[in-house]
Amino acid sequence: MTHFPRLLGCRSQNAFDEKVKFQRNSGLEGPRSKKIQNRQLNKDNGNEANAAFAENRAGKGALVKSTADPGPSSNFIRTIVAKDVQANKHGGRVVTRFPPEPNGYLHIGHAKSICLNFGLAAEFNGICHLRFDDTDPSKEELEYVEAIKNDVRWLGFDWEDRLYFASDYFEKLYDYALQLIKKGKAYVDSLSAEAIREYRGTLTAPGKDSPYRSRSVEENLDLFGRMRAGEFEDGAHVLRAKIDMASPNLLMRDPALYRIRRVPHYRTGSRWCIYPMYDFTHCLSDSIEGITHSICTLEFENNRPLYDWVLDELQVECHPQQIEFARLNLSYTVLSKRKLVELVENGHVSGWDDPRLPTISGFRRRGYTPESIRSFCERIGVAKRDSMVDIALLDYSVREDLNRRAPRRMGVLRPLKVIIDNYPENQTEELEAVNNPEDPSMGQRKVPFSRELYIEQDDFKEDPPRKFFRLSPGREVRLRYAYFITCTDVIKDEQTGEVVELRCTYDPATKGGDSPDGRKVKATLHWVSAAHAIPAEVRLYDHLFHTPNPGEVEEGKDFKSNLNPNSLEVLTSCRVEPDLQGAEPGFRFQFERLGYFCVDAVDSRKGAPVFNRTVTLRDTWAKIEKSQQQKAGK
Ligand code: ATP
Ligand code: MG
Repeated sequence: MTHFPRLLGCRSQNAFDEKVKFQRNSGLEGPRSKKIQNRQLNKDNGNEANAAFAENRAGKGALVKSTADPGPSSNFIRTIVAKDVQANKHGGRVVTRFPPEPNGYLHIGHAKSICLNFGLAAEFNGICHLRFDDTDPSKEELEYVEAIKNDVRWLGFDWEDRLYFASDYFEKLYDYALQLIKKGKAYVDSLSAEAIREYRGTLTAPGKDSPYRSRSVEENLDLFGRMRAGEFEDGAHVLRAKIDMASPNLLMRDPALYRIRRVPHYRTGSRWCIYPMYDFTHCLSDSIEGITHSICTLEFENNRPLYDWVLDELQVECHPQQIEFARLNLSYTVLSKRKLVELVENGHVSGWDDPRLPTISGFRRRGYTPESIRSFCERIGVAKRDSMVDIALLDYSVREDLNRRAPRRMGVLRPLKVIIDNYPENQTEELEAVNNPEDPSMGQRKVPFSRELYIEQDDFKEDPPRKFFRLSPGREVRLRYAYFITCTDVIKDEQTGEVVELRCTYDPATKGGDSPDGRKVKATLHWVSAAHAIPAEVRLYDHLFHTPNPGEVEEGKDFKSNLNPNSLEVLTSCRVEPDLQGAEPGFRFQFERLGYFCVDAVDSRKGAPVFNRTVTLRDTWAKIEKSQQQKAGK
């Protein structure tokens, strides 16, 4: 069986080879690489490759512990669904749902769930619903509903006319609650919240029955009706299921089904002042919609008996199967709406779409493609054990996709002026530049060249250390698509000693970047023509947190103490090639040698463009420099 064939495509041998190459290039190859290659021979599929990636990283002491099952056939959810279809369970239908609570924006953990639910439906000719699980009026908002719809669509999934809201079922849910009361399976409790907690017992001690547990059906119906009618204050009563106060599963000790909350709801207004709890709402919403497989994350494993209890007691026609999988955890970031809300509301980031956040809207603004997020979700697989995925795997997925499709441009982030003394003044040449060496169909463009250029400050060193092959006095290098140049003089600021300008000569015979006499140079630099380049702001991003697991903190501190103070660097005196003048918001491209970038969709203006760095390229020199610094103990 193939793996999400319609939406996500199959991983191929090529993809695997690429990954092995990536591991080698990035120095990730660990002692277990031999084993990985053997496994590659044995199995040719993406999840296997991912397991190998994970294992390899783990071999180097990295954070990926276990990210995937050995192969698609062992994706236990797909196996369950396939078996059910084969056995004609639910008449062979597959109906899944993605059920977000509209109390925040979606993050990449949600993308995993979206890909899984919509992917399974597509694979088995089924359907997937988008259902808002909106039963807590104090935190939910329409803004979140709209943002979530937008993000699911952007990720490439379509719920068509299957948009649902739990709040549309409030009346039905109320009727179901009445049925339970009439069956003697639910009662109104009037203990305080604190007393309810005390009566619940602990993991080692059974709970105690509430004195209100034996109320008559009539009394319960009367009180529940008056709860709805608004006669009582918040917390005065709750409706509880009558199950078993001695159950070893604490969730089965008479869980609350309804509570009084005199808070208006973003959809139902003030129509209701009692709201159903998650455990009551979720299973019944699934049942009402005819869901066949109700897929959720592992923390709901203990809720499953309650899910089944409610549906069994009410003898509903459709009883979906709840299946749990491990939620996604990603290193150097947090995937919890509660924590993300805190970062947004306390101004630690600029908003839900801050490009440093792991939200779908943050990734979109940063330049990630939906394809790269989907392929990442495919790679990490679906497992039953909790794990932490290395964020490097996400970077890898983004690079892989953008490498194929992003056109190349040149831009200088920290400009250093270069004057070519033997180049005619007032002359401009239009040089041919390749748009994407990976894809000849993307064609070529013209880049203006003239006597005054900018190159990158760190592409020049007056006293080049060993292995620094870029420009230095007396040395010849290639300017991309242009000429060989040689540095003849270094002009410094008299006061600070800072290098402010380089004087160079060029060899007219090397036009296009090759020397007819076969002379070799060891470096190729990017550049822009000073007179033609346009000024731009560039934003560089680093991990939002400086530790792989931001949740690990000393006593008395919280995850925010692990925020990386250098996660955003804004460069305001960049110069970029004129072709980018009219680039549309969201336009993605590569600045040669610097990484993949996109036009910021919020702050970019005509004449004052702002570019976000999506992800870096791999920079060998930066790596050497870093390891040298480490050796020198800096
Ligand atoms: P958070 O813990 O971030 O607040 P949540 O579970 O409260 O998330 P919901 O809006 O209830 O957020 O999530 C909708 C669906 O997405 C649920 O089915 C949930 O299990 C799934 N989901 C949430 N976080 C993750 C994650 N990190 N990995 C995989 N699935 C997730
Ligand atoms: Mg939730």
